[in-house]
Amino acid sequence: MSAAARPPSRATGTAVQPVTTQIHESITVTTAQTPSEDEEIAPGQPYPGHSHALKIIFDGLESISQKSAQKTSTLLNVRTRQIMTVLRHMKEEAAKGKPAIKEDPMIERLHNIETAIIEMKTQMKSAVKTYAQAATTPPTELAKAKISPERKKILEEGRKERRKYEITLTANNAPEDIKSTIESTDNKGITAQCQKAINKANIKNKPTLKGVNKLAKNILRLYFETAEETERVREADIEWEEAYPGLTVHKPKYGVVVHGVPTEAIDLDKTHDETLRQWEMENTNKQLKIVNAIPLRRREKHKTAAHQSVVIFTESPTVADECIKIGFNLNCQRLKTEKYSPNLHINQCYKCHKYGHRSTNCKRKEVCGKCGQDNHRTIECNAEKPCCVNCGEDHEAWNVKCARRTEEGNKLHKLRMDALPLFT
Ligand SMILES: [Zn+2]
Ligand SMILES: [Zn+2]
Ligand SMILES: [Zn+2]
Repeated sequence: MSAAARPPSRATGTAVQPVTTQIHESITVTTAQTPSEDEEIAPGQPYPGHSHALKIIFDGLESISQKSAQKTSTLLNVRTRQIMTVLRHMKEEAAKGKPAIKEDPMIERLHNIETAIIEMKTQMKSAVKTYAQAATTPPTELAKAKISPERKKILEEGRKERRKYEITLTANNAPEDIKSTIESTDNKGITAQCQKAINKANIKNKPTLKGVNKLAKNILRLYFETAEETERVREADIEWEEAYPGLTVHKPKYGVVVHGVPTEAIDLDKTHDETLRQWEMENTNKQLKIVNAIPLRRREKHKTAAHQSVVIFTESPTVADECIKIGFNLNCQRLKTEKYSPNLHINQCYKCHKYGHRSTNCKRKEVCGKCGQDNHRTIECNAEKPCCVNCGEDHEAWNVKCARRTEEGNKLHKLRMDALPLFT
């Protein structure tokens, strides 16, 4: 074999072009016919042999590089599955006592193809987006863009400064017709309505509302000219119901992840108010008031782990920070804690099974979590073998061992390490 035809080592063989070229040079093509892009090396069909199989994959990769990004994702998944087929055949041969596959340069090439595919997928994801796409991108995807710590600090300070001029209200508990009235009223109309509530309140020199921003989930953000006016409104205990029935001050909740909670310590499927009151008693030094508790991860019903991570919510950012700094007392133990940032913990969609968003915000097609097809739902699946929609391996989309899941987890862990550790 000439030096040029030798496959690159795994460490250096990450560039797409050289890898595919070398595969091309070193494969004996056994048929002159060009395989179609959808040609599968499927079980049940006679296996064409490693060389021909690799030729199909190579041709596929070449056609992918000439296609638009939209179709590429599906094609890449097809090629990934094909590589798995070749590997399976090689392993079977090895098991039957054929020459050891470890020394086979083809294995090296397969790893290179795999690396090239991963590389291409990453490149596709980071491709330039249109404004509309960027606007609908879930926060975790946006978070991939690197923000320097200095910039982050400035933005954070800016946010805190802005809060001094703002008051946030929620219509979450308002009747449905009121919610839709707010939805359909323009910002000027809402501003006038909220000003009425301020005028009715017992405050000297009625502060003047400058405007209102409508945020997601029935949240209204009111802003004033000065921090002093804002503070007076905050202290005045205004009846916002005068503006719209059911409108109240929005109390943000601050989440703390408590790690290593013994599973029997709390039953999150049932009412657990009693348990939360006990937990508060154990943490009186922090004046903790827990308003809610949820599991950090979706629990698999058939699995019973000894411990779990639980997110507790409080309305005080300083108390939440105390819990983060000191830890959480439970059953005479001090448990590890960390700040809960929903976007920096794994979010997997129940509908399309992709990461980084929840099903309530999903704009994709529903996909079967077992076999990865998009023509039926998970509960209707009749497939014998699972095929993960995210990585193509034979497990369900939510399997904790999924390589894509691990990748997502590592990425978020890194982002968490870079994020501010406290709320205040
Ligand atoms: Zn989705
Ligand atoms: Zn299915
Ligand atoms: Zn997977």
